[in-house]
Amino acid sequence: MLRSHTLGEIPSLQGKEVRVCGWIHDIRVLGRIAFIILRDRYGFAQVTLIRGLVGKEKFRKYTKIPRESVVCIRGRVQKSEQAKLGFEILPEEIEVLNRADSPLPLGVADKVDAEIDTRIENRFLDMRKREILSIFEIRNIILQGIREYLLANNFIEVHTPKIVATATEGGTELFPVKYFEKNAYLNQSPQLYKQMLMAAGLDRVLEVAPAFRAEEHNTTRHLNEFISIDIEMSFANEEDAMQMLEGSIVNAIRKLKEEREEEMKTLEIEWDVPKLPFRRITYDEALEIVKNNGIEMEWGEDFSAEALNALGSELQEFYFITRWPMEIKPFYVLPDGKYSHAFDLMYGEKEITSGAQRNHIYESLVEVMRSKGLNPENFEYYLRAFRYGMPPHAGWGLGLERLTMIVTGVKNIRECVIFPRDRTRLVP
Ligand code: ATP
Ligand code: MG
Repeated sequence: MLRSHTLGEIPSLQGKEVRVCGWIHDIRVLGRIAFIILRDRYGFAQVTLIRGLVGKEKFRKYTKIPRESVVCIRGRVQKSEQAKLGFEILPEEIEVLNRADSPLPLGVADKVDAEIDTRIENRFLDMRKREILSIFEIRNIILQGIREYLLANNFIEVHTPKIVATATEGGTELFPVKYFEKNAYLNQSPQLYKQMLMAAGLDRVLEVAPAFRAEEHNTTRHLNEFISIDIEMSFANEEDAMQMLEGSIVNAIRKLKEEREEEMKTLEIEWDVPKLPFRRITYDEALEIVKNNGIEMEWGEDFSAEALNALGSELQEFYFITRWPMEIKPFYVLPDGKYSHAFDLMYGEKEITSGAQRNHIYESLVEVMRSKGLNPENFEYYLRAFRYGMPPHAGWGLGLERLTMIVTGVKNIRECVIFPRDRTRLVP
C-alpha cells in the first residue's frame, strides 16, 4: 500500500507513525523551519520540517518541491498547539511520486478568481480547490439522498437506451447520430421507456442517466447534456408523484446536513430541512402573481424568464405549480379538459422538475398526439404497450444539476458538472 491513512484519519492518530500521500498545497520556509501543507480529498496536514532534525540536504531538497506535486510522507503525527489544525506531522522521509510543472496554469492555493473557461480547461486543477470539490461532494450526497429514499420506497433502478429512433417530445432539440445505415438520436428523456416499464409490471422505476438536448441557447441554467433523475410509478396520480418528490428532496437535504457540514461551511450555505408538504399553487394562481407584478401574460402561455423572476421574487422556497394548461404540456400528460394533471417543482425562479399523471388510455393518447401534430405511426413501439394492460401511472424527471445549483447557491449550472457540455464546449 502506498499510504497507511488518508488526511481525514490522522487527527485521531497522535503519536503514531503514518505514511500519507497527497498534493503539496503550499510550502512556507521560515529560516531553519519550514511548513509543508499537504492536501488530499479528506483534508489538510501541516508537515513541519526542522532543519536540525531532517538534515541540511533533505531540508533544501524538500522545500524546493514545486506546489501541486504528488508526494508521500512517512512520519509521526504529533499534537501541536501552534498548528492551525491542532496537529502536525514530523517527517522522516518525503518521496516525490509526480513532480508538477510550474508555473501552474491555474492556482490552487491562491484566492485569485479565474474565468470559468480557464477553469474548465484545467478542471483537474480547478477541482483541487476546496470550494469546487465541495460542490461535487454535495451533488453526490443529494443524489444519494434521493436514491436512498426511492429505493426504500420500492423503486427499482433501471437503465433505458440513450440511442433512440424517435424524439420523446417531438421537438427540434435533438442530436442526430449515425446508427449504421439508420438515422438515430441521443435521447432527450427516458419518458417513453419508463412508461413502457409500467406496462411491464415493474410498478416503480428509477433511472439516473444523461439526457441530451440540442438547445441552441446558451443560458446559465441549460446544458446540452445533463443528468436526469427519473421516476415512474403505477397505480398513482400526480399527488402521489409529488409526495415522492418532496420526500426525496427532504431526505437529500437531511442527509446533506448530517454528512456534509464541512462542505456547507466551505460554501457558506445553510439549509433548514424543508417542511412537508411543499406549497402547491395552481398555474392560474401563478399567472395571477405574474400579472400582479405588472407582467403581461395570457392564459395558456408558458412562463417567460421575466415571469419566472416575478414568481421567484415572491416564492423563495420549494413549491409546486399544478394544473397546467394541456396545450403547453407534452402529449403523454393526462388531460383534464383544457387543464392537465401536470406539475412542476420550482425553487424561486428555477424549475427543477416536471412531472404528471400520464395518459394511460390508448385512444385518448393517440388523439392528443394527433392534435399536437405528431404521427402515432412513429410511436408504434411505445403505443403498443398501451393496448395490452397498462396501469394508470405518474412520474417525474428532475435535473440533478438544477437542484445542485439551488442547494449550493452557485449562479451558473456549468459549476455543477465536472465536464460541462454547452453550445460551444466539447472538450475536455
Ligand atoms: P426548462 O423550461 O427549464 O428549459 P424543460 O421544461 O424544458 O426545462 P423538462 O423537459 O421538463 O425541461 O425536463 C425535466 C427537468 O430536467 C427540468 O425541470 C430541469 O430540471 C432539467 N432540465 C431540462 N432541460 C435541461 C437542460 N438543458 N439543462 C439542465 N437541466 C435541464
Ligand atoms: Mg419542464
